[in-house]
Amino acid sequence: MTDATLPDLVAWVVRFRDLVTEHRDELTELDSAIGDADHGSNMARGMDAVVAKLEATPPATGGELGKTVGMTLVSTVGGASGPLYGTFFLRAGTAIGDAAPLDAAALGAALRAGVEGVVARGKAEPGDKTMIDALVPALDAWDAAASGGASVQEAADAAASAAASGRDATTPLVARKGRASYLGERSAGHVDPGATSATLLLDALRDALAERAAS
Ligand code: ADP
Ligand code: MG
Repeated sequence: MTDATLPDLVAWVVRFRDLVTEHRDELTELDSAIGDADHGSNMARGMDAVVAKLEATPPATGGELGKTVGMTLVSTVGGASGPLYGTFFLRAGTAIGDAAPLDAAALGAALRAGVEGVVARGKAEPGDKTMIDALVPALDAWDAAASGGASVQEAADAAASAAASGRDATTPLVARKGRASYLGERSAGHVDPGATSATLLLDALRDALAERAAS
């Protein structure tokens, strides 16, 4: 199994656009329960702008890719999720720089840098009912797989499964960060929209790598 190349990373971003577009109504419905009903449109609009930017100016390195995706999300998405996802891609891109192809350990380290950026920016901790509750378990599963000698594909499979479990585990939680926290106890009983889109981010990476393996 080969390592992740720059075209694989671009395919990941495009697949993420496709998945948030496919799930736009679901994300918006989740956000209408505990937020302001804009998460689906925020993510779809932001990722459409990202793909348009990438088509107009193809990145030469993973670092450039992360910068384009991150800056575009920060500037086109008004909600909390724009700066948070933007920071994820900016930090992950900085960690990648011009290093590619990436093995599972190297890609895991870049993703970890991205998640640390989200934590630094949003100050959410695990259990606060945010995207962090999908991202942190995903990265833990990634690292466990990578240190056991997994390929990028196997690590991405493990991470996507762990993200989905983390997303599902947000349902009973009371939100302590973001708009949903205004609801207090009433935020319990709903899955977090950002944890749902963060699971799509890992699904997109798994799909992009699987697609490549199949072709
Ligand atoms: P807004 O809340 O500004 O309308 P979105 O609806 O696009 O923005 O995104 C909401 C999601 O953002 C939440 O479901 C949550 O997962 C995530 N989120 C909000 N605040 C934070 C934070 N401080 N840290 C991490 N994630 C957060
Ligand atoms: Mg919202």
